[in-house]
Amino acid sequence: MRRSVVAGNWKMHGSSSMIEDLVKALADSVSADACDVIVSPSFPYLPLVQQLAAGTGIGLAGQNCSAHSQGAHTGEVAADMLRDIGCDWVILGHSERRQAGETDQEVAAKAVAARSAGLKPILCVGETLEQRQAGDAVAIVTGQLEALVADLADGDMIAYEPVWAIGTGETATPEQAQEMHGEIRAFLAERQPALAEATRLLYGGSVKADNASALFAEEDIDGGLVGGASLKADDFAAIVRAAS
Ligand code: PEP
Repeated sequence: MRRSVVAGNWKMHGSSSMIEDLVKALADSVSADACDVIVSPSFPYLPLVQQLAAGTGIGLAGQNCSAHSQGAHTGEVAADMLRDIGCDWVILGHSERRQAGETDQEVAAKAVAARSAGLKPILCVGETLEQRQAGDAVAIVTGQLEALVADLADGDMIAYEPVWAIGTGETATPEQAQEMHGEIRAFLAERQPALAEATRLLYGGSVKADNASALFAEEDIDGGLVGGASLKADDFAAIVRAAS
């Protein structure tokens, strides 16, 4: 039985006061008893969130990390640093980073660095609208996984995030999402049989309070990676309840 998980990706949003209000509201409204709950603020706010969320069971994720462990890499953040300030997770390969030029190989190298620092990666994959319309969605997603699967480890999570559904209000139907999650699990069963059943597969792409239950009811959807709706405490709490 896979434990459900809901992760909030706050992207490059917020300020000290906004984050403080949000975490206090989440601490009052979210229960991490029946579901893993993770939030991922921008790097500068990680210590603030860690301090405010202490004792709530809400976990912390970085939004990215370097493939390097330390050194002359101005502007980069090492996986060890994230671990050092209390992160358990790191989101890697988000489509917004892939669109800015991050390659499958770079995502894979970052995942290796993350695991060796003791972080668990949330590995994002997903196709564009053009790729889906061309009938290439499964090939694109399994191609992205190809770069990651050899080093996949116990505790890693995979987030299927169709690019056309991120921040657009357009959600994959539960059937579309399940179809791809089934493909991903079948791919893992072939390439990493020992991990296929236990690896949690999250859906991301305009998950909202009113569509979360139907998505999470699908067999291979173990929770969600939530962008916009994770910035509203009531909406995020409702999504967590739907997964719990
Ligand atoms: C995301 O940023 O990972 C995401 C899924 O965003 P949204 O929920 O806003 O589509």
